[in-house]
Formats: sequence, structure tokens, C-alpha cells
Amino acid sequence: RSDAQKFEFQAEVSRLMDIIINSLYSNKDIFLRELISNASDAIDKIRFLALTDKEVLGEGDNTKLDIQIKLDKQNKILSIRDRGIGMTKEDLIKNLGTIAKSGTSAFVEKMQTSGDLNLIGQFGVGFYSVYLVADYVEVISKHNDDKQHVWESKADGAFAISEDTWNEPLGRGTEIRLHLRDEAGEYLEESKLKDLVKKYSEFINFPIYLWASKEVDVEVPADGDESSDEEEKSESSSGEEEESEKGEDEDTEDKPKTKKVKETTYEWELLNDVKAIWLRNPKEVTDEEYTKFYHSLTKDFSDDKPLAWSHFTAEGDVEFKAVLFVPPKAPDDLYESYHDAYKSNLKLYVRRVFISDEFNELLPKYLNFLRGLVDSDTLPLNVSREMLQQHSSLKTIKKKLIRKALDMIRRIADEDPDEAKDKDKKDVENSSDDEKKGQYAKFWNQFGKSIKLGIIEDATNRNRLAKLLRFESTKSEGKLTSLDQYISRMKSGQKDIFYITGVNKELLEKSPFLERLKKKGYEVIFFTNPIDEYLMQYLMEYEDKKFQNVSKEGLKLGKDSKDKELKESFKELTKWWKGVLASENVEDVKISNRLDDTPCVVVTSKYGWSANMERIMQSQSL
Ligand code: ADP
Ligand code: MG
Repeated sequence: RSDAQKFEFQAEVSRLMDIIINSLYSNKDIFLRELISNASDAIDKIRFLALTDKEVLGEGDNTKLDIQIKLDKQNKILSIRDRGIGMTKEDLIKNLGTIAKSGTSAFVEKMQTSGDLNLIGQFGVGFYSVYLVADYVEVISKHNDDKQHVWESKADGAFAISEDTWNEPLGRGTEIRLHLRDEAGEYLEESKLKDLVKKYSEFINFPIYLWASKEVDVEVPADGDESSDEEEKSESSSGEEEESEKGEDEDTEDKPKTKKVKETTYEWELLNDVKAIWLRNPKEVTDEEYTKFYHSLTKDFSDDKPLAWSHFTAEGDVEFKAVLFVPPKAPDDLYESYHDAYKSNLKLYVRRVFISDEFNELLPKYLNFLRGLVDSDTLPLNVSREMLQQHSSLKTIKKKLIRKALDMIRRIADEDPDEAKDKDKKDVENSSDDEKKGQYAKFWNQFGKSIKLGIIEDATNRNRLAKLLRFESTKSEGKLTSLDQYISRMKSGQKDIFYITGVNKELLEKSPFLERLKKKGYEVIFFTNPIDEYLMQYLMEYEDKKFQNVSKEGLKLGKDSKDKELKESFKELTKWWKGVLASENVEDVKISNRLDDTPCVVVTSKYGWSANMERIMQSQSL
């Protein structure tokens, strides 16, 4: 169109579109779930606004919050429309021409090599998947604050926007028209679309309708030009019906003859069941359904399954339902933005209405790796997000969510046969499930740091979190072990839990600090992560046992009868030595029973920084 305003795509978008349009990726189906997910997001947005301002919904058809799919076989057009929030001209330029989210270029790079588009929705560029199946796309959109506009592009590096003066007015919302490529003809088949919605959009909480054809029998008077009508009938009706017609013929011999013919009519056919999964009884939801729900929630449609989930209802003063998931993998940037750009991944609903997926008041920072949702009947609906954030019920919700989350994580360990090895026999027998084997080690590798951050930050749940801690030790034989297992192996008379910190296990194993402990059969925990030094400043004790850094002052290995004697006989030497080293920041020189072969070691004072901590602080100040 001549009066259309032309724009160029941001370079990044252009590159992405090139890759998509030339993609040999075989799973082109994904475009539909991306469009439906966008439509659903748009409806969520308008419904949220309507909570505090009913006017925004308008009236009549505009209040229908559904998604409609229509096929135009003749012109090879597939269209999807919603009565969501719509887009202003400015929105169209910004949302469908530039990429807002970070990390997208990494995705583009990855896609270029792997060709796997399955994760496209996670990167905030799902819309462009339309070019897997279409060579020309029109987006018609009406936002309350603007006139109706058409965005169009043939994926040739440019798009155009015009004020819409020729299409039917939408009222409000968006219609996406895909002009399908020749080889994408299958998306004009109703059965294909029904299958796709079933497969990928099962958990969309708004009705999805297809303008579907239906063969109906209609009775028409069988008069006049018999012959041509007769022909039509025999083409379209089945033998069975012919038979029934014979019967009718007999009954109605004297009446004016009518006959049945097939006619194609169209009507909106509902494709999904909109009952939200979290409202269902957990006993009736299958593992497969939870997994699929997880995929749709996270837009991660890879084959990975969540490591665990918890679906529960909280009753009492504060009522809510929740589904929590432990993802199979930690996102690359999980800890990068931990302090500054912390973002919770839980979706908040109030009485089935989506409120926000950036509601940080639901979970503490260290649990931001969890995915899922909370739907509360107690929280008020008609208040602003800011008011909601202050609501007193949130504290209760948060407390319960943390409990449930930690229970869920502990369950991964409890059900893992690898973990049960040193525990009760009955646990081993109960966990016959091969799928659960090694799951806790997997969890620990991905999210162990979060548990440690939890121990540091959450004093209330410190002991629960400490139970989840895993580490290697002088007796763990290359495997992970827990504090409970450590305690079960403690020697009689051993009071403290021994640990040592350092760069890696190999170096620590050679440490002179371990000589005597090993010889006497004491187990020592290896802490080799920088965060462990901080961790141990907070984790002072566990099950009434104190932690003792074996490179620090205070190590007691039980009394030796010769101790006193030795101390006496070397009194002069230690005194002299202390005098010599006093200028070197040495506090004391003592006879020790912690060594075996090595003649002497430098020990950190009880409240001083360990050598490892010194190293960490130094590297941080660089
Ligand atoms: P994402 O959905 O992750 O943000 P998309 O590429 O799917 O990324 O969509 C980009 C943006 O385009 C959306 O964030 C939204 O602002 C806008 N958009 C897409 N489809 C619609 C729609 N049907 N109604 C309103 N806005 C839409
Ligand atoms: Mg999207």
C-alpha cells in the first residue's frame, strides 16, 4: 500500500527471520502454540486492567475473552484472533520489529548451529516463528488507546504499518493472518489444527475455538428436477442413510416426498478444556499432564522433565492452590543477576485471574529457580499491584510455599535409590523406580548453590536446608554425602563435625591438616566452592554438633596422655619461637596433636579468616 509507513527490522530480528524462513527445521507446528500463547497473554493483560477499571473491556463481543482460529482454504490464509489488549501503532513497531529481551543473540547463535527452534518462546521472539509456515503475514490490531492498524511483512528485512481503513473493525484485540507457503498446506486442515491445539495448547486458560465445518443432514423437498438431486444424494450420503430413507419412503408414501442431503455448515467448535490443572484434584492429574503443564508454563518444549513437582491446596486463614516445579536445568544466568535483578518465576493468580509473573513477594531469592504458580482466593482482586504487594496474607503464603518447596526437594533425595544407599533398607526397597536414580545428584549439580545461599539467608529454615546439603569428604569415595550420613559415621567420642576449605579436593587431600585426622579415622568434609567460606560463617551447628574447620584453632581430637608432658618439655622452645615470630602477626605458638609427618603448620585463629578465605578475598579485590 502506497500510504503505508515502511520500517526496517532491527538487525538482530532480520537475522533471526532469515534463519527461520530458511530453516529446515522439521517441527514447523510450533508457530501455532506461540500465537496462541501470545493471544492468551494479551487476554490476561486486558483482564488484569479490567480488575480496576471495568470500562476497558467495553461491551458486547468485546467482552468475550476467547481465541478464534479460522481457515480460508481458497486463499490459503490461517488467521488467529483474540480480544486481548491489542497493540497501538507504537506497540506494533516496538513489539514486532525489535527484540527486547537479553540473551536473544545467544539464542540466535545457538539456533544457527543446532537448528532447534523448540526454545524460541523462552527468548521472547516466538512471534517470528510464523515465518516457518507463512511467507507473508498481516497483523491487524486495535488497542483502546489508538485506531486500528495493520502491520505487514514478507520477511524481507522490512515491515510496513498502515492505519486500517479496509478490514472489518476488530473492536479490540489482534488478528494475525498467515498467508501460508505452498508447502504448508497441511495447516489448512481442520484435523491438523485440532491436533496441534490438543498437543501444545492444552493448558491455555481461555477457550480456543475453531471455525469448523460440519456435515449436517438437511431435509429438502424432493420435487422438481428429480434426476440431478438424486445424483447429488448418492454422492454424499452413506448406505445406511439410504436404507433409513427407504423406511421413510414406506411410511410417507402419500405425503409430499422429502429427502435428506448433506450440507456443510460452519460453527465455532471449542478445542480445549479450560479447567485449570491446578484446580483439579492432584490424585487425578497424571505425571504426563504435569510434565506437559510444566512445558507450557515455561515455554520449554524440549524433552526434559521437571525434577520434581508439588501440587497442593492451603486452607485456613489464607487459602490458595499452588503448583511448584523444580526445573531439570538451571538457566545460564541464574546467579548472575541474583542480587540486583532478582526475578521470581512464579505466576500469581487471584481467583483464576492472572495477576503477574514478576511477583517477588512470593518466594525468597534463593528459591528463584523454582517455576510454577499460585492462585489465591484470599487476596483481593480489585486493588493495584502495589497494594497487593503489601497485603498481609503474602507472608503466610510465602512461608507455606517455602515449606512445601523444601519438602519437595527433600523428596527428590528420599526417592533416589543412590541417596538411600547408607540409609534404612526399607527406603531402598521402596524406591524401585529407575527414573529416580541419581536425581538428587542432578539437582545438587544444578541448584546446590541455591541451597547454600538459602542457608546463608534464611535463618528460620537453616536446619531444613542443611539437611539438603551435599559434599564430598575424606570418606565419601568420590560420591556426594550428607550431614546426616556424616553423623552416622562419626566416631564414638567425636563431638564436632570436621571440615576443611580450599581450592579443590585434590589439593585438600594432601593437606597436612588432615594427616592425623585421617590416621585416627575421623571424617573431614571438603568445601571447595568460594561460597562455602561464607556458608560456614552461618552454619555454626547441625543437630547439636558444632562445625570445626580443621585448619583453625580449637581442633580437639580427644585427650592424649602424653599431651601435658609434651607441652611441658617444649615450653621453652614454644616461648622462644613466639618471641621470634611476634612481629609476623603470629598470635601464639603451641604444641599440637593434629599433625603426623609434617613438623609444623600455620593455624588460623578461631575468628580469623582461613587461608582459603584470604585467597578468595584477594581474588575479589583485584
Ligand atoms: P513474547 O511473547 O515472549 O513477549 P513474542 O515474539 O511471542 O514474544 O511476542 C512479542 C510481543 O508482541 C509480545 O510481548 C506482545 O507485546 C506482542 N504481541 C504478540 N502477539 C500479540 C497479541 N496477539 N496481542 C497483543 N500483543 C501481542
Ligand atoms: Mg510469545
